[in-house]
Amino acid sequence: MTPKPEQTTAAGKPGAISCHTCGAQVAVVRSVRLRQCVSWRPDPNVIDDQNHRAHLQYARNMQFRRAFICQACYAVLASNGYGVGAVRTTTGETKEYNLSGESRGDKAAVYDYAKWLRYQKRTAGKMGLGFDG
Ligand SMILES: [Zn+2]
Repeated sequence: MTPKPEQTTAAGKPGAISCHTCGAQVAVVRSVRLRQCVSWRPDPNVIDDQNHRAHLQYARNMQFRRAFICQACYAVLASNGYGVGAVRTTTGETKEYNLSGESRGDKAAVYDYAKWLRYQKRTAGKMGLGFDG
């Protein structure tokens, strides 16, 4: 999920962008397509229909989506041929993510706050939302 600009300002650091994967407040991010690595197995104790719905949700979660991540997270995820790595969040959790192939190899665009804010406003406009940024 893309961080909301008002949350960034509320964090007390105007001009900072929240990293999607670790939560750090940074000045520059990389625009990537990624997904969080989660596992799923059918539950043998529930009826097939529930497993079917659970699998549909799992499949939706496994789609690559656009996100903005900090340079440190990008270095971790883009440093191997698979684009897979573990990120430690600012709350102490460890989460695994997978970068899409198009985002690896230093190909992800660099966004500073002004560029990121323009993207947020454009996206909000496409969704028919007002944006008081
Ligand atoms: Zn990060």
